[in-house]
Amino acid sequence: MSDKHNEAASAPEETQRPLDWAELLNEEAQWHDYADFLGWFSNVAPLLSVPGPDQFQSFRDDLNFIRRQAASIYFNGAVDIPAINNRLANLSFRIEPSWEGSRLPLLVAHTSSEVNVLDGVAGAMLVDFAKFVADFIAGGPGLCRCEGVFRDQRAEELQLTEFETQYRDEIDLLKDGQSPEDQSLQRCADFFVGRRKARFCSDACRFMTFRISKQLKEPGYLADKQRRYRNRKK
Ligand SMILES: [Zn+2]
Repeated sequence: MSDKHNEAASAPEETQRPLDWAELLNEEAQWHDYADFLGWFSNVAPLLSVPGPDQFQSFRDDLNFIRRQAASIYFNGAVDIPAINNRLANLSFRIEPSWEGSRLPLLVAHTSSEVNVLDGVAGAMLVDFAKFVADFIAGGPGLCRCEGVFRDQRAEELQLTEFETQYRDEIDLLKDGQSPEDQSLQRCADFFVGRRKARFCSDACRFMTFRISKQLKEPGYLADKQRRYRNRKK
């Protein structure tokens, strides 16, 4: 987990709110593998039994569908409504009171008498996303993506999604050829629904971006800063 999310997690909240589609995508962006997912799941829903790797993979596929539609809205304001409607048509919903105490939504999708936890959540997220899409088409706010950058030392394990190169190209520090020696630099994955006022997901993310950008432009910057700090303390 990166620092910015730890900070967000410790911020006081008035009431517990279930995950929405954008938050879930933002958190998913930090899972490199099944083990990361397990850590996340046991935190989010400590009382539910842990889904297996196959369920995890199909959950990711479902979330990727939403991610692709979100990118399409982000870059050209277009969205594949028939594809969303097709998926909605296959879903039924019910309330799962036994999930109380988790951060999962309690209105969940099911296909048979049984609820598979991750399918149930994926369906709930699809509906939540569809609500955003419907509002967007009606003139509501679109999508913003944080302009922050951070270092992820495990980045080489990641495969860039089809749209990720486009997202990176919007950030000067990440454009091809800008910092080729530093493969660990990533664009913050956080989305938020809005009208493009805020550029960063958090103060911590903005500060980190400032520091990285300073470092790249003036390689001696950090060393200088530490030296100045040590001299001050003497
Ligand atoms: Zn951010």
